[in-house]
Amino acid sequence: MNPFTASIALAIVQFCSGVIMTGLFISTPSERFTRLWALSGVFSALGICITVGVYAGLAGNLRLLGLLVGNTLVFSSGIVAWCGLRSFYQRQSGGWPHWLIIVYVLLFVALLIGGADFTHRSYLAVGGLQLVFCLVLHEFFKGLSGPLARRYPRWTFGRWIGMAALLILSATHVSRLLLSLSHPELFMPPQMRMLGVALIYLIPISGTLLLSVSLMMIYFERLLADKQRLATEDELTGTLNRRELVRCGEQALAQAVQGGRVLTLAFIDVDHFKRINDTHGHLVGDRVLADIGALLREHCGQRGMVGRYGGEEFCAVFPDGAEEEGRRIAQHLLETVCSHDFGHGQTVTISVGLAVLRPGCAKSWDALVHEADQALYRAKSEGRNAFRMALAA
Ligand code: GH3
Ligand code: MG
Ligand code: MG
Repeated sequence: MNPFTASIALAIVQFCSGVIMTGLFISTPSERFTRLWALSGVFSALGICITVGVYAGLAGNLRLLGLLVGNTLVFSSGIVAWCGLRSFYQRQSGGWPHWLIIVYVLLFVALLIGGADFTHRSYLAVGGLQLVFCLVLHEFFKGLSGPLARRYPRWTFGRWIGMAALLILSATHVSRLLLSLSHPELFMPPQMRMLGVALIYLIPISGTLLLSVSLMMIYFERLLADKQRLATEDELTGTLNRRELVRCGEQALAQAVQGGRVLTLAFIDVDHFKRINDTHGHLVGDRVLADIGALLREHCGQRGMVGRYGGEEFCAVFPDGAEEEGRRIAQHLLETVCSHDFGHGQTVTISVGLAVLRPGCAKSWDALVHEADQALYRAKSEGRNAFRMALAA
């Protein structure tokens, strides 16, 4: 493949990735990162097209201008993509570093005025791109941090692909730099050798494609995670929502009945919660619910599942949790909530009703919930801050 054909192929791929990035922006225009990625795609496509035009026959000052504009656009596209990734991972700090682009332009102009040849210009072009790759790779490697890290899966496929693409591109750049020192003729147009064509065009084509695909993937992975969370999680408490709890609970119950295993269900209600709302306001009430949700997740999450049934009522299911274990967990929950500091010198207590499915028994989900509810009612009427076992258990 001759260098001109290869450069046209690179331009086509850049154009396609520009279209993909613009598509992301059109689908979600309110996100800063989609705006930056679309801009980066456009810069990159324009930059490569201008560079191809230069090699296709521009001459004189127009050629020098084309080289300057083309290379600067490609470099800027990398910087903008990097800023987009920072924004995606919520690490952006205001605008983007224009000064890096200004330094790049000044260096390039100095090289052109100094009459630097193709090899020297390519050192700056490759060095600039490599700097961008290192910045983007660093961002990919750091990935999510802070509250986002708890909300989304960490090592997703899209992130691996992005890092692999950048490592391939970086290895290509380093080999190109080293080879151009010892064998500059490999890269000299118009008699560029196949190895030169591969390092300058073919491998970067694959790398660019992979990089665009990876940005698209991390974006869709996040959308899917959001969708999954919204469909299954209670927003205030971070526990399962009622629909998901019932779905998972019925599934666990059916497995326990089928396998002849034991299962315990705990119905949990906050004591005198209305008083907290009335005394301190609904915002404090919400915070108390969120704290209780966190405590329940921490203490029940490992052994089973916990969800918000409604209002200030929660439900926990412990597959394989025998009666004795249910009592122990309930007692532990009572003590944990009672001794937790909710702020405002606020003491909060809960009451718990327990129902057990014994091995060999068959019960419906509704029947088990009803038993636990009755037990909870007894815990309330016998003084609260206590747990009771269902009589039928
Ligand atoms: P008991 O000990 O008998 O359970 O008394 P209680 O006050 O906890 O029970 P009651 O059912 O009378 O009150 C529940 C209150 O929970 C009423 C409702 O305003 C409040 N509530 C329900 N959902 C929310 C919520 O999401 N946020 C806040 N702040 N309050 C809520
Ligand atoms: Mg209550
Ligand atoms: Mg209640």
